[in-house]
Amino acid sequence: MCGIIGRVGDGNALEPLLTGLENLEYRGYDSAGVAVQNGSGINVEKRSGKVEELKSSIGDPLQGEVGIGHTRWSTHGPPTDANAHPHTDESEDVAVVHNGIIENYTELKERLAANGYEFTSDTDTEVIPHLVQYYLDAGYDSERAFRQAIDELEGSYAVTAMVSGEHVLYAARRGSPLVVGMEDGEYFLASDVPAFLEYTDSVIYLEDGDVVVVDADGVEFTDLEGNPVVREPETVEWDPEQAGKGEYDHFMLKEIHEQPTSLSQAIEGRIDSAGGRIALADFEPGTFADIDSVQFVACGTSYHAALYGSLALNQAGVQSTALLANEYSVSAPPIDDDTLVIAVTQSGETADTLTALRQAAREGADTLTLTNVVGSTAAREADDALFIRAGPEIGVAATKTFSSQAVMLTLLAQRIAADLRGEPPADLEALLPELESMPAAIDDVLAESAATTIARRYRNSEAYFFIGRGLGYPVALEGALKFKEITYEHAEGFASGELKHGPLALVTPETPVFAIFTGEEDEKTLKNAEEAQTRGAPVIAVCPDDHPAVAVADDHLSIPDTEPDLAGLIANVQLQLVSYHAADLLDRPIDKPRNLAKSVTVE
Ligand code: GLU
Repeated sequence: MCGIIGRVGDGNALEPLLTGLENLEYRGYDSAGVAVQNGSGINVEKRSGKVEELKSSIGDPLQGEVGIGHTRWSTHGPPTDANAHPHTDESEDVAVVHNGIIENYTELKERLAANGYEFTSDTDTEVIPHLVQYYLDAGYDSERAFRQAIDELEGSYAVTAMVSGEHVLYAARRGSPLVVGMEDGEYFLASDVPAFLEYTDSVIYLEDGDVVVVDADGVEFTDLEGNPVVREPETVEWDPEQAGKGEYDHFMLKEIHEQPTSLSQAIEGRIDSAGGRIALADFEPGTFADIDSVQFVACGTSYHAALYGSLALNQAGVQSTALLANEYSVSAPPIDDDTLVIAVTQSGETADTLTALRQAAREGADTLTLTNVVGSTAAREADDALFIRAGPEIGVAATKTFSSQAVMLTLLAQRIAADLRGEPPADLEALLPELESMPAAIDDVLAESAATTIARRYRNSEAYFFIGRGLGYPVALEGALKFKEITYEHAEGFASGELKHGPLALVTPETPVFAIFTGEEDEKTLKNAEEAQTRGAPVIAVCPDDHPAVAVADDHLSIPDTEPDLAGLIANVQLQLVSYHAADLLDRPIDKPRNLAKSVTVE
C-alpha cells in the first residue's frame, strides 16, 4: 500500500502534489517524492522519511504544470532515498510512481539489464520506467510504449507515468486503487479521494484493466488494447477533515474492511494453487531443512498470531512453541543451533520482542522476523524477514495485520514442514483454493454481518467470554483482547475444554459466551458451549449456517464453510466487528484506546 498522486493543469503542480501526499500519508510514510516538468526535462525530488521532510528539503521550488508524487510503504527494498519513488530511466525521460507488487520484476530486470538498462534501486517498480523507455527507444510513441509496458507486468499495480516534454499523464490499474479527480482544466490521479478533495469532489474511479490518458483537455478511458470504456463521474460527499477514513467513522472499521485487500496482497505470488504448492520465493529452497524446532516470540495480538502459527506447525508435524516475548528472558526453553526463533511484530520495533530476538541470536538460534514494516529493526536484525504487506495500520487495535500475520504463518508452517521433509508439502489441494477465495469470503462476511445487532443485544452485560479449540483457541484469545482493548469491558478468552476447569464459576445469564467453531472437534466445543448455556449464559455461535451449533445457540454469527486452517480467521472478522460496534455504542475513542499505544517501544 502506498499513496500516488498526479496532476495536470495550469500553474505550478508542486503545491497540489505535496498537499495530496500529505493527505495520503496514512497509506505509507517510508519515503516521499515528486517529479514535475516544465518543458525542459523532468525534475525529481525524493527522499526517505515523511512528506514534511521532503517539503523542507526542496530548496528552490520545482516548477512545472504536470507532475506525479508518491508516499511509499515499502514492499521491495528498504526505505532508502534510492528506493523512493518516482523512479525514472537513466536519462530521466520517463518518471513513474507505483502502488503494488510487480511479481515478474526479476525476469523483466534481467532482460532490461541485458539490454544495457542500468538500475539504481532495489524496487520492483524501477522496471516500469526502463520498460517504457525500452519501447520508446524502439520507436513507439509514448502512449503505445506505456500500454506495451503495462501489458508485460504481472502482479498488482496502480501506475502513473509521465514522459519528458509532454503535458500528459498515463495511468493504469490492476488490483490497486486509482481515481481521477476533475475540476475546470485541472485533473488529478490518486490512490484515494482525500488526495485532491480540497480541489475537487468530482471523481471517476478506474476499474481493473483500465488505462487512462490525461491532458489539459480531458481524460480518456480505454482498456489495455485501446478500446474506449465508459466510466461514470460521481460526486463525493465527504468532509475533507475526515477524508483519510473515507466513508468510515474510524480507522479501525476501515482497516477491518481492508482485510480482503490486505490478504490478497499478503498471498500475492506466494501460492501456486494450480501447482498445489506454496511459492514462498522469500526464502531459498531448503532454508529450513536443518531446523529441529521452532520458537515464536511475540506480544499482544502478534502473540495470538504466533500461537496460531505454532499450532499450525505442530499440526504439520514440526515441534513448535509460542512464547510471550516479555517472559522470554526468564523462561526461554533451551536453544541450539538447529532452533529457529520467529519474532512476530507488526511494527518491527516492539521492544520486548526485540530483546527476545537478540537473546535468541546470542544463544545461537537461527532467527526470522514476520513483520509489516520493511526496514524495521526486527527485520534488519534477524537472519531472514518475511513481510505481511498489509499497509499502514492506524487504529491502535490491530485487525488487518492479525489476519495477514496468521495467514502468512499458515503458509510458512507448510513451507517449513516441507523443507524438513525434503519434499513438497503434503496435500495442499484443499487449502490453497480456499486461501485464494478467502478475500471474497471476508467480503461476504463484511456485507452480511449481524455484528451490530449482537453488539446491541448484549450491551450492558457483566463480562464477555470467548471460547475455541485448536486454531479456534488463539482466535478466542484475540476476540477477547480486541473486546477489552476498545470497549474497556471485562472480556476473557479460553480454550473451550478449559471452561469447566474453573472459568465456569464466572458464567451467569449476564455473561454472553462467543463460541468459535473451526471444524476441529466441534462436537466437543458445542458441548462446552451448552455447559455455559445450562448455567444461563447466552451463547453466540460463530460458525457456518448449516452447522449443528446454530440450532442450539441463542444467536449466530455466520461464516462460510471452509478449511479448519482458515475458518477461525474468518470468524475473527465477525468478532472484530462485534468489538467495534460494542465500543461504538459505548462511545469509546476507538482508534486511540486509553493507556495504549500502537507500537510499544519500551520493555
Ligand atoms: N512495490 C513498490 C515498492 O516497494 C510499491 C510499494 C507499495 O505499493 O506500497 O516500492
